[in-house]
Amino acid sequence: MALRRPVRQITDGGLSDARSAAIAMADPTSGPSASVAAIPKAELHVHLEGTAKPELVQRLAARNGLALPSGLLHDHETFAWRDFPDFLKTYDLAASAIRTAQDYRDVVLTYLSDCAAEGAVYVELIASPDHARAVGLTEEEHRAGIFQGIDDARAAHEIEGRVLVSVVRHLGVEAAERTAAEAAAMAHPYVVGFNMAGDEAGFPPPPFTRAFEIAHDAGLGCTVHAGEHAGPESVRQALALPGVTRLSHGVRAVEEPELVRRLADGGIALEVCPTSNVALGVYPDYAAHPFGALRAAGVAVTLGSDDPPYFGASIGGEYGVAAEHFGLDDAALLELTRTALRASFADDDLKQELLERVRSAADGVPCEKGA
Ligand SMILES: [Zn+2]
Repeated sequence: MALRRPVRQITDGGLSDARSAAIAMADPTSGPSASVAAIPKAELHVHLEGTAKPELVQRLAARNGLALPSGLLHDHETFAWRDFPDFLKTYDLAASAIRTAQDYRDVVLTYLSDCAAEGAVYVELIASPDHARAVGLTEEEHRAGIFQGIDDARAAHEIEGRVLVSVVRHLGVEAAERTAAEAAAMAHPYVVGFNMAGDEAGFPPPPFTRAFEIAHDAGLGCTVHAGEHAGPESVRQALALPGVTRLSHGVRAVEEPELVRRLADGGIALEVCPTSNVALGVYPDYAAHPFGALRAAGVAVTLGSDDPPYFGASIGGEYGVAAEHFGLDDAALLELTRTALRASFADDDLKQELLERVRSAADGVPCEKGA
């Protein structure tokens, strides 16, 4: 079941080149310096099923007695996708190996452990009740697995995880409102936000106003995928949805200077995923990416890895990209983390606690602004 649809056609050759370039640039052997590795990090944009590496997907498939389709992997180590439509198909096939609450727990624990090893202190995971439902899990089972993974990761690595419930726009308005209502009725301290993914260009935001109203009224922080595959108009429409204080990607706002000013003046945070953008051909390379321009214009930018193993990305890798390709020094990287924590949907006590951890870790790093 293709939960995420192709939103535009990209030539195989072009995308393959972009993907290879992104993965080569994100190569950990040429990756972040020791000082970047020591920076405390926070991630606001990563899709839960999209965190599972091939090794874990194979392990879960074996545990569940499933045969993975041939062609899903290269050499058992890399997801084999050629272009954007094929990426979406590969994602859904790999996600379908995640079948049980225990599987979700293992996926969350594995990912948060990897993030902690790269210095992350906080991660917001985008969860998709539609993916869980597609493999026959109830929302209670889905959540129980995720919450256990968050608890186990905290106990083992002192990292905090929180959950954003995501709807899939191309499954329609009714489905989105139903999932929003379900999230509103199942309040839990770990479920802090609401997002909308899927076919951005084919399903613009306005008809989803009610879904966001339900989520916002229930106290969930709201963010929405916009300004990635669709242009500035999608960003304007996303900002008109109730409760939206952040945008997933949002980078194509850069095409309209007035919109960039609006983001900066309104304190709208962008969850920017540079390696994903290059791998999917939104931009040909890091040099063409607008991260630096948006930051220079005063927009609150943060970093995310989106679907890390598909793009050769990781949260540590994205901080490395910001250092290497966008010229951020350690003080600027620390400020990215503070921006992410302030823009996060965590409760105020947790935000303060995490900001304090960043402040302690920042001792010895020259800071432009005191934390
Ligand atoms: Zn995303």
